[in-house]
Amino acid sequence: MSLEKRIKKNYDLTSLTTIKIGGRAEYFVLVKNKRELIEAVNWAKTKKLPSLFLAGGSNTLITKKKIGGLVIKISGENYTVKGNIMSAWAGTGLTRLAQIAFDHGLSGLEWALGVPGSLGGAVRGNAGAYGSDISEQVSEVEAYDAVKGRVVRLSHRACAFSYRHSVFKERRNLYIVNVRLKLSQGQAAEITNSAKKNLRSRIKTNPKEPSAGCIFKNLEYKKLIKENYRLAEDLSAQRLFRGGKIGAAYLIDQLGLKGQARGGAKISERHANFIVNSGGATAQDVMNLISLIKKKVKARYKINLEEEVQYFDN
Ligand SMILES: Cc1cc2nc3c(=O)[nH]c(=O)nc-3n(C[C@H](O)[C@H](O)[C@H](O)COP(=O)(O)OP(=O)(O)OC[C@H]3O[C@@H](n4cnc5c(N)ncnc54)[C@H](O)[C@@H]3O)c2cc1C
Repeated sequence: MSLEKRIKKNYDLTSLTTIKIGGRAEYFVLVKNKRELIEAVNWAKTKKLPSLFLAGGSNTLITKKKIGGLVIKISGENYTVKGNIMSAWAGTGLTRLAQIAFDHGLSGLEWALGVPGSLGGAVRGNAGAYGSDISEQVSEVEAYDAVKGRVVRLSHRACAFSYRHSVFKERRNLYIVNVRLKLSQGQAAEITNSAKKNLRSRIKTNPKEPSAGCIFKNLEYKKLIKENYRLAEDLSAQRLFRGGKIGAAYLIDQLGLKGQARGGAKISERHANFIVNSGGATAQDVMNLISLIKKKVKARYKINLEEEVQYFDN
């Protein structure tokens, strides 16, 4: 079917986010491969409309009731495995890729089992868990540069990865289409056991209600020491840093904020860095809780929490 025929108007995005909070897209289209993605971005460009991406919708809070422009939903899966190199379409699910890696006796994605969302979304936000992140495996990224109108290749270095960050958060004209991961050969049983252990811990700690994952980034010792020296030293003396970071959840929990609710949104009782939709939550309810947490943390600890969740607010 032609692109024009596939584009839908005034499309409800609620079911496309894991927190189940939506808005209506002026135009909406689903793309399953590089060709369709480029076609959609160019269509919006010709119409002088902004294009916004939604993949797994698991790190996104849609804050507006009406989203102007074209929302491009990346879906589908496509991958190849050659030796220890896995190459995949950005829309491929991260958990699915982790399972494929295990089936091939490849190590490197044990942390990713159970992380919802796509490979492209993971690369953009440098997703990670259990002391690892996707940047450790990324060797090259293919992206469509909407300004240049062509596909470009970025080396690992050019991706400028840091904690939950990459060049793709800064250069909004770059749309990730394909990612090459360099994994290592390992023992299938060991890989699976380690991944299953992580998954068990995830099931125990993550809330069951709809959420958008962790709302705030964890705190890095090297940054915290500049913002509040005494706090950093105090937390360090209590041996609370793991891999140079302390969970934002720890501070939120210390403030007794678990269970606080605004409308249908609630700070999870299970994990203080998650805000869950306990029924009928609006983006405003979630934003109210985010601002409550930020205010309380600032007042008590004299530091600013930084959002990990991405606002979708064109
Ligand atoms: C229960 C739960 C547990 C989670 N656990 C973790 C965890 O352990 N670690 C972790 O890091 N995260 C975690 N997350 C958050 C989330 O799953 C990850 O950040 C995931 O990688 C986001 O991918 P996505 O496809 O859902 O991105 P989306 O939410 O669809 O998009 C996120 C951002 O990336 C942009 N984007 C998406 N695809 C592309 C692309 N191809 N090119 C350019 N931009 C793009 C979007 O425009 C948006 O700005 C969790 C979320 C939930 C709900």
